[in-house]
Formats: sequence, C-alpha cells, structure tokens
Amino acid sequence: MTVLTGSCKCGKVKVAVRGQPVRIGICHCTDCRQESGSAFTFFAVWPSDRFETKGETGVYQNRRFCPTCGSRMFSANDEEAEIKLGILTDAPTPLKPTYELWVKRREHWLDPVEGAEQHQEDRI
Ligand SMILES: [Zn+2]
Ligand SMILES: [Zn+2]
Repeated sequence: MTVLTGSCKCGKVKVAVRGQPVRIGICHCTDCRQESGSAFTFFAVWPSDRFETKGETGVYQNRRFCPTCGSRMFSANDEEAEIKLGILTDAPTPLKPTYELWVKRREHWLDPVEGAEQHQEDRI
C-alpha cells in the first residue's frame, strides 16, 4: 500500500497516510483562506485508521497545527482525517482534486481544476 509522509516546517510534527484517499479537494472559503494565509486549501481525506501522527499539536476549532512553527496540518476525528497536502514531503503530490468548494470565493485569476466537481459553497 502506498504511504505518503509529511511534516510541519520545523519537523516536530509528522504525519503518514496509507493507501488512496477517500476524496481530494480544494476549498476557497473564508475560513480556509484565513487559517492558511493563502487563497485556498488543498487537502485530502483518509479513514482515520490509515492516518498516523507523531508530535504534539495545538488545536483551534478542531484544526491541528504545530505549536512551534505554526504550520497548519490536519483535522481528525474517529472516522476521518483531513490532511493539508502542502505538508507532504514529496512535491508535486500524485493527488489531483476531484472537487472544489466555495468557488464563488475563488480568485479571478485561478481556473477551475479540469474535471473537478464545482460547488458554489459546501458539498451538499
Ligand atoms: Zn513545526
Ligand atoms: Zn474551506
């Protein structure tokens, strides 16, 4: 099974996920913009039993980050783990978004991802 690994900028927090994600998305919503400091987030969701993490994280509204360097990393519950794909070690990743959320907030200079479902706001 494929294993993808990642870490925060300073390396104190590490993550690993096994196998194919359940879904891969991009979100342009205000929450994602503010928390990332960027125009959108790129993430994928795995079942929680195929996700591992090491190192202490801080948490804000169930969003986990490295308390030392501030990298935004993941959110997880008993069922699913959503990983921010920018923290993966190898770039580019082999993962392509299958859907986009909050496209009404997408920057005008960004084109829709070819073949990805387009949602004006959240998925229904
Ligand atoms: Zn760190
Ligand atoms: Zn969002």
